[in-house]
Amino acid sequence: MRGVGVCAGVAVGPVARLGLPAAVPADLPAPDDVTAEATRVREALSAAGDALDARAAAAREHGRDEAAQILDAQAMMARDFVLADRAAALVTEGNAGVHAVSTALAGFRAQLEAAGGYLAERAADLDGVRDRVVSTLLGVPLPGLPDPGHPYVLVAEDLTPADTATLDTGAVLGIVTAAGGATSHTAIIAKSLGIPAIVGCRASESLTDGTAVLVDGADGTLLIDPQDDVVATRREAFAARRALAAAHSGPGRTKDGHPVKLLVNLGAGEDPATAAAGDVEGVGLLRTELLYLDRATAPTFDEQTKAYREIFAAFGGRKVVVRTLDAGADKPLPFLTDPDEPNPALGVRGWRTSWRHPDLLDDQLRAIAAAVTAVEADGGAADVWVMAPMIATAGEAARFAADAKAHGLRTVGTMVEVPAAALAADALVSACDFVSIGTNDLSQYTFAADRLQSELAGLLDPWQPALLRLIQMVGAAGAAQDTPVGVCGEAAGDPLLAPVLVGLGVTSLSMASGSVADVRAALAIRTLDECRALAATALAAADAAAGRAAVAAAG
Ligand code: PEP
Ligand code: MG
Repeated sequence: MRGVGVCAGVAVGPVARLGLPAAVPADLPAPDDVTAEATRVREALSAAGDALDARAAAAREHGRDEAAQILDAQAMMARDFVLADRAAALVTEGNAGVHAVSTALAGFRAQLEAAGGYLAERAADLDGVRDRVVSTLLGVPLPGLPDPGHPYVLVAEDLTPADTATLDTGAVLGIVTAAGGATSHTAIIAKSLGIPAIVGCRASESLTDGTAVLVDGADGTLLIDPQDDVVATRREAFAARRALAAAHSGPGRTKDGHPVKLLVNLGAGEDPATAAAGDVEGVGLLRTELLYLDRATAPTFDEQTKAYREIFAAFGGRKVVVRTLDAGADKPLPFLTDPDEPNPALGVRGWRTSWRHPDLLDDQLRAIAAAVTAVEADGGAADVWVMAPMIATAGEAARFAADAKAHGLRTVGTMVEVPAAALAADALVSACDFVSIGTNDLSQYTFAADRLQSELAGLLDPWQPALLRLIQMVGAAGAAQDTPVGVCGEAAGDPLLAPVLVGLGVTSLSMASGSVADVRAALAIRTLDECRALAATALAAADAAAGRAAVAAAG
């Protein structure tokens, strides 16, 4: 089976599929024995509490404290005696256990939502508890992450943030999803956790629990019942890649010493302290949505300042590029995004959100500036750069730069995600201290192809010559004006493509931390002229596959 490999590595193990929530039958007969049914409901709730506790302990053991906290909260909800009493009372009134639990939990959910703030954010966690208890009562497999009692290859249609939040990196050997592309949530999370993964693998829908598979996240192949010699060959190839990576360290540079900053992308799910401990030169994309997701209101100025300050301090004077809030389209926020927008990807998203909510951007810029001041007041250093997402014109870039500078922020730039911005690269670069190309969205808008649709993965391939041509225009504008040009989309983490990007004039690459070592090695074995020659080869190719093959063959 083939898909898109998104995190290199070889995983071998039995398949376990993500469980789907059971449908609750609309009419169920009233229980014959209400006392026995009420006991069944109490036992199911208590069993859910025990299972969630065990998961929390496992998550904690693997250093996933945030996941452990969510699971702790769910376990507490399952054990809440008021909830159990309410459900039991509903059974006594003649409701089937499944309906009693669903109704009782729906009541709790409404109360949490009405309370607002932190409690409202926990409301969705109740759905996880409900789905688990309902499945137990119906006697069907549990929904969510499987727990077969041994390590497994996780196979799913796709994974949501709620699924991955509690993913146990000790148990999940590999990830395979039928949907998704190189820029999907699953891809980003798999890379940040360093789990070999393949996305957009339609054929994986036919895989059943227990089937032995090999997942090769480097080339996106999945083998069923692999022979020992095949496993050994795949593992050796991966080990060779690792050995090459291990032979190089420190700041990124080509063989002839041309510097290329190697940075990491940080977002929900990545621990800043762990990322900072790596051999990286800083953060090239701080996805600040992580502070706004799963919330009913925007984080306060103080909450934001605290979070930014911790991240800046963790990177101790290394560069940190903060992207201002990128709400809308694939990153909807309930309190900001208009659910009735006819075409959200082309709507009021990214920086445009600040047209309607200027206060939000203002608060965010103030908080970033305050965090810099706080770190410096502590005797630390913070090299903080700020950029806006979804900028389309040089005028917009200038407006954002003026706003950010008015808050005392020193280094201000914009992302290049809209073809218009790349086509006007000269003017855009003049308005900025730096630019950073978001190849995920730039592909989406250049090819009119939704980045979340796996069917369109071919169009979204970053080796598309038309995309590379836009990157070349931005690289040339940056070089002419001596202005840094970064790439922070998923393309930056492809070790075969990285030399091509450098050859097109890119001066920094920002990626998942797990990709840095391979990219560093790929640059260290080529001179800048060789990178330029590879770029010319990729640009001249008839299509993405031909470009990739020609560059691989050129070595
Ligand atoms: C991009 O679009 O390439 C990018 C880096 O931003 P995001 O993936 O967060 O939209
Ligand atoms: Mg983007």
